[in-house]
Amino acid sequence: MSGVLRGSYCLMAACTRFHELDERLARWLLMTHDRAHANEFHLTQEFLSRMLGVSRISITNAVGLLQKNKVVRYSRGNITVLDRAGLEASSCGCYAAEKATYERMNFVTLVKAVPGTLVQGGHHRSASGTPG
Ligand SMILES: [Zn+2]
Repeated sequence: MSGVLRGSYCLMAACTRFHELDERLARWLLMTHDRAHANEFHLTQEFLSRMLGVSRISITNAVGLLQKNKVVRYSRGNITVLDRAGLEASSCGCYAAEKATYERMNFVTLVKAVPGTLVQGGHHRSASGTPG
């Protein structure tokens, strides 16, 4: 089966379309938390609004919801993760799935960065198309 990678793209597209913003925000915070290796990190609302493709007001509301649940604390662009387990529970199921494919994605990006390594022939070879 070669549908694993394509499936992950579909999953992310579905996530953007169908999952609630606060779930997606939680997912983003988890991913950032993983990379930050700290419970506190800087993320502006403008950045989050761009990454999630929503207005800043929507971000404010979603962050407010997470704060209300005492999962995170947000102050002047600084996110503090108060309850990692709670944040995972707040995120949509895509986090675990995406985390599993994240390393593979990096690998694919790496391969694609070197012309001729993987792709042979024209640009229309990819049936899944490019995301975005
Ligand atoms: Zn999702």
